[in-house]
Amino acid sequence: MGKKRMDHCSFCGRSNKEVRMMLTGIDAFICDDCVKQANEIVRENMGALDIMSAEDDAKNAFTLKELPKPVEIKEYLDQYVIGQDDAKRYLSVAVYNHYKRLAQKDEKDGVEIEKSNVIMVGPTGTGKTLLARSIAKLLKVPFTIVDATVFTEAGYVGEDVESILSRLLQVADFNLEATQRGIVFIDEIDKIARKSDNPSITRDVSGEGVQQGMLKLLEGSIVNVPPKGGRKHPDQDYVHVDTRNILFICGGAFDGIERKIAQRLNTHVVGFDKVLSVANLDRDNLMKYILPQDLKSFGLIPEIIGRLPVLTYLNPLDRTALRNILTEPKNSLVKQQQKLFKMDGIKLEFEDEALEYMVDKAVEYKLGARGLRSIMESVMMELQYESPSWKKKEFTVTRAYAEQQLDKANLAQA
Ligand code: ADP
Repeated sequence: MGKKRMDHCSFCGRSNKEVRMMLTGIDAFICDDCVKQANEIVRENMGALDIMSAEDDAKNAFTLKELPKPVEIKEYLDQYVIGQDDAKRYLSVAVYNHYKRLAQKDEKDGVEIEKSNVIMVGPTGTGKTLLARSIAKLLKVPFTIVDATVFTEAGYVGEDVESILSRLLQVADFNLEATQRGIVFIDEIDKIARKSDNPSITRDVSGEGVQQGMLKLLEGSIVNVPPKGGRKHPDQDYVHVDTRNILFICGGAFDGIERKIAQRLNTHVVGFDKVLSVANLDRDNLMKYILPQDLKSFGLIPEIIGRLPVLTYLNPLDRTALRNILTEPKNSLVKQQQKLFKMDGIKLEFEDEALEYMVDKAVEYKLGARGLRSIMESVMMELQYESPSWKKKEFTVTRAYAEQQLDKANLAQA
C-alpha cells in the first residue's frame, strides 16, 4: 500500500500524491478511483453478458441467520405504516418464507418450498405500496413498482413483461444475482380483471390476455431482458433473468369486491354454514372475509390467483389512523416539514387543532392518506416560500392559519 516513494497508478498515471489511496501489485499500482471505475465496468458487463453462474447466485443468497424473523419484519413495518396489522403479519410471513426458500440448500428430500407471491386488496391510499417499499428497504433488495394497466395499453405483453425486469436490473445496478432476488410491486392488478364472472356474455378478451401474459412472469421462468430496456433488437445482448426467486407483490383496490364477499357470505349463512353466523358478521368491514374465490368472481383468472397464494387485505383509513399518519411514522408528514424548516434554522410546530383540521379535510376529500399530503403542501406553500428569508426563528401552524391557507389554495384552483 501507499509507500513514501513516488508511485504512479498504472491505469490513470497519477502519482500517490494526487490520489487518496494507491494499491500495490506485483508489478503495478492502482489508485482508488480506478478501482472504483473498474468495479463499475465489471459489474455492468457481468450483468449484460450474464456470466454470473448459478453457483455465484447461490453463494450470495441470504443465510437464514441474517434474515429478519416475521416478528422483526412486522416491528420494522410498524415504524412506517400505521395500522393494517393483518396485512403486515401476512406480508412478514410471506416474505420470511420466500427468503427462507432462497436460503434452502438443495437437500434431496424432495420437499420444495413453493413461491409465495402476495396479493393485497384494499382501497387506494391505504398503504399497499408503502408496505411493499418498506419491506424492500428492510431487506436491502432491489425494488421496483409497475402499473398493471400499462400491459393493456401497449398490447405487446411480452415486451412489457421484459421491461419490468429491465427496470429491476437497473435498480440493482445490473447485478444479476441481486435482481433475481428482488421484489416487484405490481399495482392496480384489479384493472386487468375480466369485467364479468361470466366469460361467455361480456368477455373482456384483452383483460384475460394480459393476465395470461403475466403468468409466465409470476410462476418463474427465464426471461430475455434487454439490459437497457426499450425495444428488442437482434444485435443486442440479453440478460437471462430467472424470475423464480423474484417476489411479486400485487396490489389493487378491487372496487366493489365487498358486494361479491357479501353475496358469498349470505348464501353460506343461509345454507347453515357453521363458522359465521349473520349476527357475528362485521358488516362494515367485509374485506376481512376475503377469499380467493372472491377474486375469481371479480374477474381474475384462476391461474393468476393460484400464483398469488398469499391473499391479504387493507382497511380503509379512519380518522384516528389519518391523525396518526400525520405524526407517528418515522418519516411522517409533520416530521418531514419540521426537517425542511430546521434546515433554514426555523423551529416549526403544529397546533393539535391544525392537525385535526387537516384530517377533517382529508376525510372530506375522500383521498385517504394521499389527500393528507396535498393538504399539507397547500397549507405550507406560502410559509415555504417566505420563511427562508425570515429573521424570526420559530413558527406555529394554528388552525386559523391552516384554514386560511387552504381556502386561498382552493380559491386559486377554482
Ligand atoms: P396504495 O394503497 O394506493 O398503494 P400508498 O401506499 O401509495 O397507497 O399510500 C400513499 C401515501 O399515503 C404513502 O406514501 C404514505 O405517505 C401514506 N400512507 C398510506 N397509508 C398509510 C399507512 N397505513 N400508514 C402510514 N402512511 C400511509
